[in-house]
Amino acid sequence: MAKEGAMLSISGITKTYDNGVKALKDVNITIPNGLFGLLGPNGAGKSSLMRTIATLQPADAGTITFDGIDVLSQPNELRRRLGYLPQDFGVYPRISAYELLDHLAILKGIANKVERKEAVNGLLAHVNLFQHRKNAVSSFSGGMRQRFGIAQALLGNPDLLIVDEPTAGLDPEERNRFHNLLVTLGEDKVIILSTHIVDDVSELCSGMAVLGEGEILLQGNPIEVTNNLEGKIWRKVVSMDETKEIEANMALISKRLFAGRTVVHVIADKPPEGFESAPTNLEDVYFSTLYRQRTNGA
Ligand code: ADP
Repeated sequence: MAKEGAMLSISGITKTYDNGVKALKDVNITIPNGLFGLLGPNGAGKSSLMRTIATLQPADAGTITFDGIDVLSQPNELRRRLGYLPQDFGVYPRISAYELLDHLAILKGIANKVERKEAVNGLLAHVNLFQHRKNAVSSFSGGMRQRFGIAQALLGNPDLLIVDEPTAGLDPEERNRFHNLLVTLGEDKVIILSTHIVDDVSELCSGMAVLGEGEILLQGNPIEVTNNLEGKIWRKVVSMDETKEIEANMALISKRLFAGRTVVHVIADKPPEGFESAPTNLEDVYFSTLYRQRTNGA
């Protein structure tokens, strides 16, 4: 078990790949117990950061500590405390879920047969796959595979759990089920969830950061960062031509279709002519953060 208040501290992490892509630029984040959402568009650097924390790739500079462990110089210490569900869990052999999890449990060092059987059955039940334990993982749906992925990540009862884009490609019902599972993992672990889906974070996470082009653009509590934007988001239903004009002249943070019409959200201190006040949500926070980055860089 992690000590009360076990924390993951990421400090000054920088990574440039051999092809010159600067994937991480001086990343600093402190992550307490509970579910933490790392939100960012594709290519932001989320997987690079997850792999670095999971000791699968080195950083060029910076330090990561978890509950007294210097992660980058003591990778084996960290691995004993870590569960990891990579973005692409990869090959699904034709052996049954029970056999595969049993095999992974042996690799994880659970040598005692009785203990292993108990752990494997317990985890399969926990992720709601016990009734499917005799079926091949290769025959599972996307949602079942992700739940199996969580079961393998939980072997050895890790107190740091990393899940990289776990809900991508799941249908709404499967996603909901997966969310409920993550919530049951409770407050006694540090759980980092990387995602490009804002609702994953607003539904699950008590802490969050937005990553864009390798930089942390925002971090905080989802409710607080949403409240900070209150009264600054304005919306209007517009035509395509109007959208272009608004884009050229105002801080347009998002446009989306609703019932076949375009709804734009802009950020402004005072209500712009013809706009109405919009209830602020985490999506506005996310889009306004990315907007600020885009326009600062322009
Ligand atoms: P995300 O998970 O947010 O989609 P990634 O960490 O996968 O972002 O990628 C960040 C950037 O680094 C992207 O521009 C990607 O193309 C690049 N990248 C990722 N992995 C490698 C690699 N092994 N070699 C070279 N470039 C990489």
